Amino acid sequence: MSKPKILIIGGGYGGMMSAVRLEKELGLNNAEITLVNKHNYHYQTTWLHENAAGTLHHDRTRIMIDDIIDTNKINFVQDTVVEIKKDEKRVILQNGELTYDYLVIALGSDPETFGIQGLKENAMSIRSINSVREIREHIDYNFARYNNEGQKQELINIVVGGAGFTGIEFVGELADRVPELCKEYDIPREKVRIINIEAAPNVLPGFDEELVEYAINNLERRGVEFLVNTPIKECNEDGVLLASGEEIKAATVVWTGGVRGNHLVEEAGFETMRGRVKVDKDLRMPGYEYIFVVGDCALIINEEINRPYPPTAQIAIQQAYTLARNLKTLINGGGKMEEFTFDNKGTVASLGKGEAIGVVGNKKLFGSTASAMKKVIDNRYLFLLGGVPMVVKKGKLKLF
Ligand code: FAD
Ligand code: NAD
Repeated sequence: MSKPKILIIGGGYGGMMSAVRLEKELGLNNAEITLVNKHNYHYQTTWLHENAAGTLHHDRTRIMIDDIIDTNKINFVQDTVVEIKKDEKRVILQNGELTYDYLVIALGSDPETFGIQGLKENAMSIRSINSVREIREHIDYNFARYNNEGQKQELINIVVGGAGFTGIEFVGELADRVPELCKEYDIPREKVRIINIEAAPNVLPGFDEELVEYAINNLERRGVEFLVNTPIKECNEDGVLLASGEEIKAATVVWTGGVRGNHLVEEAGFETMRGRVKVDKDLRMPGYEYIFVVGDCALIINEEINRPYPPTAQIAIQQAYTLARNLKTLINGGGKMEEFTFDNKGTVASLGKGEAIGVVGNKKLFGSTASAMKKVIDNRYLFLLGGVPMVVKKGKLKLF
């Protein structure tokens, strides 16, 4: 009898951890596992804001996939998924196609642009190694132009649209990076504007007020300007247009206004909310007992507040554990499937080098303590992925 084929599409937090856990849970003879990813490397999406600002090289953020999984046990296919044929149990790739008995969808997210005119065309976003390399180069290039092209202010204006966690973490890194750029390109620091624009009445909507205040004070002191209650209405080649009618000219506009599930899920004909599938308790696609969804493509309701859990790496990693055990159950002939429950370990957001805010358990963390905690969280992930050797190779070992 042929072995059941498990196909994992997407090698981010959800997909990589699913592969690692399946490698551990299932013997070689029980299933044939294939992982498809666009690149031959996995990247830690949670570090991309550092690469975008230029405070961390992107090679620190990416890990070759064959350094994580044993490619004698799991087939790795480097290719781009272009279509999921859900009823035919086939996935179409740019360079071929694959069939499966069980599918794990782990394709991550796309930027949510809310139909704002010109955003897709004119704003950059923090979503992959290629995208952040472009942001870093773009900022550098425009700083280099400043003294050559009549010191036009817009060349050194950086607009960050959206002050959720991604926006705040990015401006924190920019606050560290801009003084270095100013030195490099002979530009007085006070001329450069880092403007973080937020539609809601405050930054980090819904987060602990005391921590938000700490973040704002810290970032303003380091030269970040905040415009709150200020929705961006349009983006064009010159910058952004605000709902108030005001225009801010900027050569660099980075959109951090939110995410939605990968477009391929919606395009496959699955029912979605902002591109995310409201999965069953065992993480399966409703109506498709052979398809699982993890990470940013999956939507799970927090029943305490009757709202979806925010899409995070933390929940994606936890889902991979449940998914692997449930697939093992199915492949071993069925039985009781495990229900996924999210164990919220807290949230920590970095504000730049040695600075962060966070809530862990019922404790609020500020400054260097929070920053050290963020590194512990990052190192823990690397440990789950590849044990101590991976922490030593890729971890942030200097905590303070
Ligand atoms: P991803 O990790 O994004 O992986 C998706 C993978 O699919 C990628 O490897 C991609 O290349 C691949 N892929 C996409 N399309 C295709 C295709 N068509 N074909 C083949 N492969 C494809 N969460 C936290 O919990 N803590 C944090 O501190 C945190 N910080 C963050 C900081 C930033 C700057 C950002 C942007 C996000 C942060 N998040 C954080 C959120 C977290 O990164 C995401 O929720 C998490 O990455 C989701 O995991 P995923 O596996 O669904 O997607
Ligand atoms: P988000 O949805 O959390 O924040 C987007 C922000 O943009 C919101 O504050 C929203 O009000 C604002 N916005 C939307 N439209 C706007 C407009 N027209 N003009 C101005 N502002 C506008 O998205 P995100 O920050 O990209 O985060 C995505 C996910 O990743 C979230 O689940 C988040 O929790 C997670 N994340 C976590 C961390 C962390 O834990 N450290 C870091 C980054 C991201």
